[in-house]
Amino acid sequence: MTQGVRLLIPPFINSHSHLGYAMTLGYGRKNETGTLLDAVQILREDVLPKITEEDLRSRMERIERDLFLSRILFVRTHEPLINDIAFKMLRIRSNPLVEMQVVAFPTPPLFFEDNEEKLELALKQGAEVVGMLPHHENTYEEGIRSIKIVMDLATRYDKLVDGHVDEIDDPESDFAHYMIDEAKKRKWGSKTALSHITSTHYQGASFFNLVNKLRETEVSIVVNPETNLYLQGRYANINIPRGMARVNYLLEHGVNVSLGSDNVSDVVYPLGTFDMITVMEICRTAEWNCPLKVVTENGFRTINVNPPVIKEGEKAQLVVLRHDGSSLHYMPLLVLNGRNYVINNIKPEISTVD
Ligand SMILES: [Zn+2]
Repeated sequence: MTQGVRLLIPPFINSHSHLGYAMTLGYGRKNETGTLLDAVQILREDVLPKITEEDLRSRMERIERDLFLSRILFVRTHEPLINDIAFKMLRIRSNPLVEMQVVAFPTPPLFFEDNEEKLELALKQGAEVVGMLPHHENTYEEGIRSIKIVMDLATRYDKLVDGHVDEIDDPESDFAHYMIDEAKKRKWGSKTALSHITSTHYQGASFFNLVNKLRETEVSIVVNPETNLYLQGRYANINIPRGMARVNYLLEHGVNVSLGSDNVSDVVYPLGTFDMITVMEICRTAEWNCPLKVVTENGFRTINVNPPVIKEGEKAQLVVLRHDGSSLHYMPLLVLNGRNYVINNIKPEISTVD
């Protein structure tokens, strides 16, 4: 066997995020339908009004640490103009661990209230990137007009462009074409990115036309696999093949279902992970739901072992996850197996006691 080699690579980049309202699951009511439209409504009504500068600062301390521990040294984040989230982010960001680009993101879209003025103000105050949301404007024509305004602002203030474009289950949504054309006219292709373009999944010939334009203009595409696998396709009136047994259907009908990692880094599957929270997340992404018990109590039933009980004088076996009503977190705070334990903090460490 060869000794393991060390791999020196550039730091990871997260090219599209929404850090301003990351880890805020507990701030609003539950999204019962799971659709983006309902999510956006809850975000605007319940969540964003609760984000003060102080709340943002304390969440960002944690988020930035998590990004750093995830090997990310550069991140781009799209921050809403509504409730001044973008302005708050510009004021509090400090970048000691992770370099951040702020996208001034008009959501609701550009022609909502005074978003147009706010967008320009955010650029003057230091946002590096101009955002947009053309497929959510009131009319198709306004969508087109918003693209032109954003591209004009980008060239006037010498800013980058990154739009939420065609993130919709509708093959007719083709704002990407207009955006690329406008970038080309201004020779702004390499400074422009299109995020999502999920409508292209439903398109035929027009998609290949788009690919040619992208190559020629050097406009980048940002794909967000997890969120879009979770959000899109919900309007398709068929049993969508996901390559997995139907977890929720089985659970709803009283069947014990638990998850496994299957292959990790071998000839069958070169990626993979033993982290069961990640496995559960992938299941939730594919199935639109997946309870935590499929990696805990249901697993005990499958392997026919009684779950441990915490009792004085007995060996304690437990895991403490970070859970503040906002999210479960990958990084366990404590793993305890009798006298052996792992504590994860800013420097993850493993300690064993005999
Ligand atoms: Zn986004």
